[in-house]
Amino acid sequence: MDTDPPPPSVDPSALSDVAKGVFVIGDRRVPLVPNIGVVVGDNAALVIDTGMGPENGKAVLAIAKELAGSRPLTLTLTHFHPEHGFGAQAFKGVAKIVYNEAQRDELGRKGEAYLAMFRTFGPAVAAALEGTTLVEPDEVYQGPSTTIDLGGRVVELRAAGMSHTRGDQTVHVPDCGVAFTGDLAEERMFPIFPWFPPDDVDIDAANWVRVLNKLDAETPRIVVPGHGIQAGPEIVRMVRDYIVDLGRRVRTRREKGEGVEDIVAAASPEVRREHPNWSQPEWVDFAIRYFAATGAAPA
Ligand SMILES: [Zn+2]
Repeated sequence: MDTDPPPPSVDPSALSDVAKGVFVIGDRRVPLVPNIGVVVGDNAALVIDTGMGPENGKAVLAIAKELAGSRPLTLTLTHFHPEHGFGAQAFKGVAKIVYNEAQRDELGRKGEAYLAMFRTFGPAVAAALEGTTLVEPDEVYQGPSTTIDLGGRVVELRAAGMSHTRGDQTVHVPDCGVAFTGDLAEERMFPIFPWFPPDDVDIDAANWVRVLNKLDAETPRIVVPGHGIQAGPEIVRMVRDYIVDLGRRVRTRREKGEGVEDIVAAASPEVRREHPNWSQPEWVDFAIRYFAATGAAPA
């Protein structure tokens, strides 16, 4: 049976508006396709994430131009991971590219290695990444946040601090209560713990939970997750509860002296069974290994 994954293509027909002037190109639950945002103000427009590879980047740029008309474009990313940001080259010289400092640094340090790793994910992914070059942002902000005035609406970019990656960023459109979370929250999918020791161990579940708690407390009207369908803050709470609960379970087993492999063997099937309608169960083991190795205990 052919189990090759579908091509990770952004589908322009998956465009919908979630609020006035706030558009999402939906992921259609296709692996390695993210939800992509376009926020249009009176004078300018902001694009959030690009999809993976130059062709997806071009497709997103074309949609953004159509939505923005003659307004100038800014591009930002929720984090550096290839399916979110490795189409940025299509925007270079056309849009102003703005990242937080940690994200820029992380892309610089890990970008080429992630490109090489993703190229091993099968022919469809390798084809999407064909011709990818990593580009520098035009502007970097330091500190916890910055704002972009799009005309008639001000959008906030928030550097989350190390959580799912070193440079995670959420994007907030306060006038309509929309929050773009990137992979800090996914809907009906096991949270992605990119725990790849020794190459990449930059996860902080405790901070991840703090960010989700803050987001939940702000009661956004619409949460656009990194992957999956947009809904309300319940998405954020579900992910938070999963992370806290898994951290607790692994810690309990650790305290009983169980080794990493024993913890994975016992906890992984249990966790998968409890979420029968969540996709990407392969991420459960990565999360367990992260907690087992670090002893992290988010509360
Ligand atoms: Zn990610």
